[in-house]
Amino acid sequence: MEYNDLKRQFLRIEDITRRRMDAVLAHGQFIMGPEVKELEERLATRVQSTYCITCASGTMALDLILDAWGIGPGDAVFTTPFSFFATAESIAKTGATPVFVDINPQTFNMDSTLLGKAVDAVNGASAAPYPLPGILKEKLCRARAIVTVDIFGHPASYEDILRIARNNSLLVLEDGAQSFGGEYRGRPLCGCGCDASAASFFPAKPLGCYGDGGAVFTDDKELAERVDSLRYHGRKDAANKNDNVRLGTNGRLDTLQAAILLAKLDVFDDEIGLRQMAAERYHALLAKVPDVAAPLMPRDGASAWAQYTVKLPKGIDRQRVVARMKESGIPTAVFYPKGLHAQDALAYLDYSPEDFPVVQDICSRVLSLPMHPYITEEEQQAVVTGLRSALNIA
Ligand SMILES: *Cc1c(COP(=O)(O)O)cnc(C)c1O
Repeated sequence: MEYNDLKRQFLRIEDITRRRMDAVLAHGQFIMGPEVKELEERLATRVQSTYCITCASGTMALDLILDAWGIGPGDAVFTTPFSFFATAESIAKTGATPVFVDINPQTFNMDSTLLGKAVDAVNGASAAPYPLPGILKEKLCRARAIVTVDIFGHPASYEDILRIARNNSLLVLEDGAQSFGGEYRGRPLCGCGCDASAASFFPAKPLGCYGDGGAVFTDDKELAERVDSLRYHGRKDAANKNDNVRLGTNGRLDTLQAAILLAKLDVFDDEIGLRQMAAERYHALLAKVPDVAAPLMPRDGASAWAQYTVKLPKGIDRQRVVARMKESGIPTAVFYPKGLHAQDALAYLDYSPEDFPVVQDICSRVLSLPMHPYITEEEQQAVVTGLRSALNIA
């Protein structure tokens, strides 16, 4: 059994993928070829966003947006400590200070009530103090932006987050690297009302290419033009490639990767439906394993089910569970074993591990089970049986 079986998907889309790739080999426009434009139009339509600018990775999408907004030293940017490192890395690299906000123990997404407290604490308007980075004691920062994450594909609580952002004049960047294909209140994620959204097409994401890739989504024309320029060495525009009006980077998506994504988009809606069905089957199977908490089905939207992550009982030796399941041929993964505030690279922020008790607890108990559109009911039964016996409750 594979954790994420991309080979089964390839068997389904092999013909169309090879045809799409052959077309690129024939026309030879490997950078900014016609498939890039075609993909951007299809993606923008899909998420009901005015602009889509593809780029080299999900990390690049975050970097380009923060750069285009001019986020940097003196800015505080609120985010969740329960995410892939890139979320906080891209904030910290600008020179801004990441300010972490603890998560909801059921959704694993940022707790919006605590977000309000953290914003008040940075603004110095707080009666109820919230743990801030130690370095903020010496350094004054102004609240500038929020980076939300739709962790494991589940929508963050956008109504509350966007209200807090409006009341405090903060920009909102959705890190939708795991959630492309999901929904919030009838609107597609990466197009549900944030100032900008970042998607990743890393192979293991719900919509993945065969290499690195990403995209920026926004309704803001000026931001879209800046990001378009920044990904191409700060060129003036497509007609003036050799007029460099700002310092940018090489941040483009390859035409071949765009061609692969176009082939995959043909089956993507169906795959999201298959992921949802797989999630429902896991839920039914796990209902018979009382010690294990299945992930919450989002109440105000739909998950893209990038991961299917359960909570093990408190105090369990997770490493042993993982090892036993591996012995029975069942791969698992731990996303994430530690909070971003506890990463060595961010030690300069001067947080203490106890600042985020929910993240600390969740990090010790999460376990992600094999999940992809083509997993069969028999395989899922084997996973849950393996989990049961690993926990010794079979
Ligand atoms: C994967 C991921 C990223 C980074 O995407 P890449 O395409 O690998 O650069 C950023 N944020 C989150 C939450 C992710 O899961």
